[in-house]
Order: sequence, then C-alpha cells, then structure tokens
Amino acid sequence: MMLRLSGLLAIILLTCMNMSSAMAAPNVSYELAMPQPHTHYFEVTIFVKGWDKPTADIKMASWTPGSYLIREYAKNVEGCGARSAQGSILANEKVSKNTWRIDTKGIKEFSFNYKVYAFELTVRNAFLDATHAYLNPAAVFMRVAGTEAQKSSLMIKPDAAFKKISTPLRSIGSNPFELLVPDWDTFVDSPIEIGNHDTFNFIAAGVPHEVAIFGGGNYEVERLKRDMTKVVETATAVVGEHPCDHYTFIIHNIPNGGGGLEHKYSASLQANPFGYQDERSYSGFLALVAHEYFHLWNVKRIRPVALGPFDYDEENYTTSLWVVEGITSYYDDYILMRAGLMPQDRYLDVVASVFGSIENTPGAKVQSLAESSFDAWIKYYRPNENSNNSTVGYYTKGACVGLLLDLKIRVATGGKKNLDDVLRGLYDTYYKKAQRGYTEAEFEQMASKVAGIKLDDFFDMNIRSTAKLDLKAALQSVGLEVKDQNANKKDAWLGAALKTQNGQLVVSSIVRDSPAWHDGLNINDEVVALNGYRLTSDWAEILKLFKPQDKVSVLVARGGQMINLEITLARNPNVAYKISKAKDVSPQVASMGEAWLAVAAKGLLEKK
Ligand SMILES: [Zn+2]
Repeated sequence: MMLRLSGLLAIILLTCMNMSSAMAAPNVSYELAMPQPHTHYFEVTIFVKGWDKPTADIKMASWTPGSYLIREYAKNVEGCGARSAQGSILANEKVSKNTWRIDTKGIKEFSFNYKVYAFELTVRNAFLDATHAYLNPAAVFMRVAGTEAQKSSLMIKPDAAFKKISTPLRSIGSNPFELLVPDWDTFVDSPIEIGNHDTFNFIAAGVPHEVAIFGGGNYEVERLKRDMTKVVETATAVVGEHPCDHYTFIIHNIPNGGGGLEHKYSASLQANPFGYQDERSYSGFLALVAHEYFHLWNVKRIRPVALGPFDYDEENYTTSLWVVEGITSYYDDYILMRAGLMPQDRYLDVVASVFGSIENTPGAKVQSLAESSFDAWIKYYRPNENSNNSTVGYYTKGACVGLLLDLKIRVATGGKKNLDDVLRGLYDTYYKKAQRGYTEAEFEQMASKVAGIKLDDFFDMNIRSTAKLDLKAALQSVGLEVKDQNANKKDAWLGAALKTQNGQLVVSSIVRDSPAWHDGLNINDEVVALNGYRLTSDWAEILKLFKPQDKVSVLVARGGQMINLEITLARNPNVAYKISKAKDVSPQVASMGEAWLAVAAKGLLEKK
C-alpha cells in the first residue's frame, strides 16, 4: 500500500534517502606512480573507502572501445596485493583471467596495488620509458566491480623529469596531475600523455582544442592550427552541433607509426615525424585528423546499441561497424574536400581507387558488410594470408556504401537532403532524445525517412549481400562517369605476390581463382625459377614477356623438396578506375554533382 505524503515530508524523506545512498556508495581513488620509467613499469594503487561487502572484485578490461580485438591487458599485470587501511595484508585470489577477488573480511577501507608493464606505443595500449608516458587507461587501470558509475579521482606522481600532462580529464585543483574521473566509461575513454611534449591550442567551432605532440618532426604549428581549424569546422557543419566543451588531440610522431583511436573528448593519433611537408603525406595526416574527429559524433555519440554501455570483459558484437567506421571513412576525405584541403580531382581519384580496391578483393564476393562488421573481432583484427580471399574491410567497403547512400538520398530528394541529414536525424533522435544507441533497423529507417523512399533493397543488396557495388549508376545520376583504365590491357597474370624472407623469395599471398590458385602454388613456397630463369627479385618484370594463356613452368622449394609447377597464365582482371565528368548531362543532373562535390561549400573557406 502506498501512503500519500505531504509535499514537504516527501522532500525531506527523499533528501534523506539521497544522502544515505550517497553515504553508502564506496569511494574509489587511484594513484599512478612511475618510479623507474626506463623499466616500463607503472605502479597503480586503488584506494577504496566505505566498502560493505565480504569480497571485492577488481577487474582489468580485456579490450578498449574503438579497437575490436580482445587484447587481454591483464597479461601485463603483476605483483597484485591488497591491504587494509591499517596496513594488514588481505587475501586476494585470481578468479578469472582478468579478475582479482579480495577477501575484505568486513573491512571498509582497503587498497589494491599492482604493477603493469607498458612498452607498446600504439594508440590502443600503454607505454612508459625515460622520455614519456602514454596511457590508454583500459591498458593500465582496473575497476572495482560495482562502482563503475561513481565519480573517482586519479593522482599521478610523474617522473621528476616529466613536466607536462595532456588529457581530456579535467584537473581537480591547481595540481594538473590530480584528475577528476567522472565515471569508469569516461576514464577508459580518456588517454593521458605525460612528459615534455609540445603543446598548442586553438579554438574552432567555438570549442577550445589542445594539441599535444610527442616525438618532434617537421610540422609547422601555425599551419596545423589553420588546417585543423578547417577540419574541425567542416566536420562540425555535418551534424550542425558540437557537443564538447573541450577537446584534446594527442599525436605521436614516430617512424612507421600510423592509425588513431577516437574518444568522446579526444583522439590519439600516430604520424610520420617527417611527413608534414610532403603534400600527399600531409593530406593523409589531415584525413586521419578528420577521421578520428568525426568519430566524436559517429560512434562516440551516434552509436549502435551494442557500442555502449560496454562489456569490457568480452566481445561486443554489432553488424553496424560499417556505419561507424565505413561512413566515417567516407567523411574523412570528403571533409578535406569540403574544407578546400583536397582538390576535387584528387578526391575523385581517391573514390575511384577505393571502389577499385573492393572490386579487386576476392573476399568481397564471400563476406557481406554486415558479416565483416560482426566478425571484426576474429577476422578484420586477426588477418592471415588468406584474408584477402575471404573477407572485405568494413572501412573501405563501408566508405563506398556511405558514398552510394549519400548519392542515393541526394538524387531521391532532388538535392534537398543528403547523408548529413541521416546523421543529424540519428544524433537528435537517439543521442539527444532517447539517449541510447540505434538498432540496425533504426539506422535504415532513418535513412529511408530522409530519402523519402524505401531503401530496404539498397541495404539488403549492399550490406547483407555480396553483390557488386554499382558505382557506375550512382555516378551517372550526378553527371559523372567511371572508366576502367585496364579495360583494354592484356597483361599476363599469375595472381600470387612474393616477399623476401631470410634471403629467399617466398609466396606471401595467392588470389582466389587465379592461375596460381588453380595450378597449385602454395603460400610459403620458395620460388626458385620461372621457365628456367633464376629469380632474384619479384616476377613482375619477367611476366611482361608472356601473354595470357601462355604456360610457364615455376620451380619451387617446398618443405625440403623441389617441385616443378605448370601454370597457365591468365589476363589480369584487376580494374583501375578513373572518374571524370560525363558528356551531355542535363543542367539539373550536373548541379546535383556540383553540390555533392562541394562547389557551393567553397564559401566556408572564404570566411577564413
Ligand atoms: Zn575509425
């Protein structure tokens, strides 16, 4: 039975209930030390107060959002110990690969400490040496199970030589190394760079941005400020609202570095230290900036239901990685063009090359985009020598489908709507109003709603089947045409790539349905000779002497035996697309293409 309470009494009671629940919530705080950075060990202590259960489970994440692979961060943990506030040792038992259970014996205040080895300088892991520290928090910090929603704090004791810290986490007081952790999800989502890196700031789209660059290089700060501002403002114009009040870029300039990882208020990027002056390489860097930045909307806020709240212990499956990664990949180059940072003809070359790469991937006839998304954990992130034959990337094919969807909506609405409107609709409906992720069906319904036509067939064909993407028809609808520059070529083709390994030429990949595939060449075969000619480098040059249908004899060493293979060459089926303006196009169709190619968006630039 419910009692009716007077308003005042109800307020008093509710206030008391809130106070008691606040008092009952355990208080968690973290301390991070690095007393010997050259040994690559972080030392973590977790302090817990107000605990009221007989045991406490302390858990290390198995993966980090944005990188869909079980990485088992617990493998780098050692020396775990638990103590009461008075210093007595509490028993702790490892009960799963990533869970330590402390027998708290009714003690309310205790701590848990461990060391974690950090020597992987990638955006998805952690690194410590005498020059700097980089932390992806999932790789370093454990959570106290059951306290994930609560506020906590992090006190960092940096090495004496490390003077700076850059992170999207806000400091509590005047000490920049004492940080407020709003909740566990935000903690995991907030990388930290500590050391003596370069920093600069700029304001774009009304939001203060900090850029932290480790590793030096030939970048120019003023140019980066100018071009990153263009990227930020053009990206913001897509959804039309910037949800952040601050944003941090952490950039590691390291040789052979690459890739990035998106976060809600930040991104970590790797770049070539001396790639900032070469136009192609710089354009690649800006595309990476645009890509990770665009994720602050597409995946961090506009997200599939499976991607938040996260299960940090195991795989989080979704068929929509093509939306979060593919559509983001579509927008990264597209934003550069819209911002005036990439000429239109170069943009069209990028589009042609990405569509061509899908056409030249045998796996595109085997795996659909939905399957590619779902199996990211075991296939995309764990490729082998046969991946090209059995899988298709949700980045590349997803980018292509993003483009096809954009053009489909533009044509269906006579140029009134486009893919931006779909993202805007998802942002308003699911992120802002419903405050949840969208289902696969809801994404497709939003696209159909914006297009004003049913797009079921479009999604069935492009997402759930392995049918060929119809670039030709899509481009035709906006006054462009695509040609295969290889259409009239008759190059002889074997369909196997070679690499040098221990001074030997060995087969590194074989294309499905190629002559090499049909006539028995194997991965790891050492190729010794072709038609009696000793091979010392790749066979591209020697193959130019032959025509399709010619038979060649290939001598290989396999497992200690010499084997002679007769292989019948074929015509090289690989396409090389080139996009250009079509002739005799109606003004209406031509203007649709111009709108897509952002001729009208030039105004954005002239403001600067
Ligand atoms: Zn991405």
